[in-house]
Amino acid sequence: DSSSAASKSEVEGENKGTEEDDNEDKAAQSLLNKLIRNNLVNNTNQVEVLQKDPNSPLYSVKSFEELRLKPQLLQGVYGMGFNRPSKIQETALPMMLAEPPQNLIAQSQSGTGKTAAFVLAMLSHVDPNNRFPQCLCVSPTYELALQTGKVIEQMGKHYPEVKLVYAIRGNKLQRGMKLQEQIVIGTPGTMLDWCGKFKFIDPKKIKVFVLDEADVMIATQGHQDQSIRIQRMLPKNCQMLLFSATFEETVWNFAQRIVPDPNIIKLKREEETLDTIKQYYVLCNSREEKFHALCNIYGAITIAQAMIFCHTRKTAGWLAGELSREGHQVALLSGEMQVEQRAAVIDRFRDGKEKVLVTTNVCARGIDVEQVSVVINFDLPVDKDGNPDNETYLHRIGRTGRFGKRGLAINMVDSKMSMNILNRIQEHFSKKIEKLDTDDLDEIE
Ligand code: ADP
Repeated sequence: DSSSAASKSEVEGENKGTEEDDNEDKAAQSLLNKLIRNNLVNNTNQVEVLQKDPNSPLYSVKSFEELRLKPQLLQGVYGMGFNRPSKIQETALPMMLAEPPQNLIAQSQSGTGKTAAFVLAMLSHVDPNNRFPQCLCVSPTYELALQTGKVIEQMGKHYPEVKLVYAIRGNKLQRGMKLQEQIVIGTPGTMLDWCGKFKFIDPKKIKVFVLDEADVMIATQGHQDQSIRIQRMLPKNCQMLLFSATFEETVWNFAQRIVPDPNIIKLKREEETLDTIKQYYVLCNSREEKFHALCNIYGAITIAQAMIFCHTRKTAGWLAGELSREGHQVALLSGEMQVEQRAAVIDRFRDGKEKVLVTTNVCARGIDVEQVSVVINFDLPVDKDGNPDNETYLHRIGRTGRFGKRGLAINMVDSKMSMNILNRIQEHFSKKIEKLDTDDLDEIE
């Protein structure tokens, strides 16, 4: 019935109903991250390396020159503004470019340079004189495939002989034709059809097989099987590379089926901490009171940029409207927006064009807006059962060690229930959340 459907999608934090929603969410989140990220994430952890052959020396490079890339590719790399390999690239690149080629499973959070690394490996291994596919790269969605394609085009800018084609639904080819492009990038279903059913690609001639975003991939029914079926058509000496941002048991099991005799590289996420954050709560009785408290806070302290989190789209929309009426420049991030639109909103906010970003939980998951010094939980983060979502709380307001600029977090409490949630969050982190009197705000500045 339509009314219950509406209310379900309204509470985006609870919109985990079907597996499908969840997968879309994962792919969209990953795409959003790519669209808004224009540099490497900072990570001070050490990479962990597990070599297939522990006795072979482990090479790691501190410069791109050491890799002896083709000059056109080195030019492409520098053209993208890369000065030196990222942490994961330091070890991944020598492995991927070694002769004979080595298989690799690599895990690190998004933004650490995985895509750039495997794109460089593909471009290094193709022979442009051979007019047939030599590298296959599978991604979970069309949009993600396009993003990787853009990186191939940028990095291969000075190597125009190498051509690229997209194996995606909707890209219909004539029966019986053979592809001439050296690199094929696409989604597993179409890629499988092109290798098997239609034979546009001769899988026996493939030298490099890349499986990107393995964790997003396996969330979609069928992708796992299709990927494994593609992998089985490839020759034994084909280099297999698999990348993932996270590594649960299921991803690991899948990885081992795709990549025989792998080298393994892992880079742990930088831990987030609440140590440099001042946490407060404000006691209110209604949404309107929360809004007034918010206005008082704005009247009392100078807030360069703030992010405000709401539980539902409806509240977020309402709050954004009220704030604009008060004269604030407000950006609104909401679930019904296309990923590209969301990325545009975040970009504007990052450029300082808006000072307040109002958003729902789901939208902002995994987004880092480093310069935000004030985070306001207009609604406290809860999971679909109404329990405190500690992980989300930490991610919203926590800071990673190195960039531990001081921050301020203000939680709006409007019922016994939300007070209970707040107390549980406080206990979980063993960090005091101070009560704030919004009629007397001297203390927080
Ligand atoms: P991932 O695939 O792990 O999400 P990407 O390869 O997309 O990471 O890299 C994240 C961002 O960092 C991109 O904007 C990319 O252009 C940039 N980047 C990648 N490698 C380097 C490097 N060695 N130096 C500087 N920037 C880099």
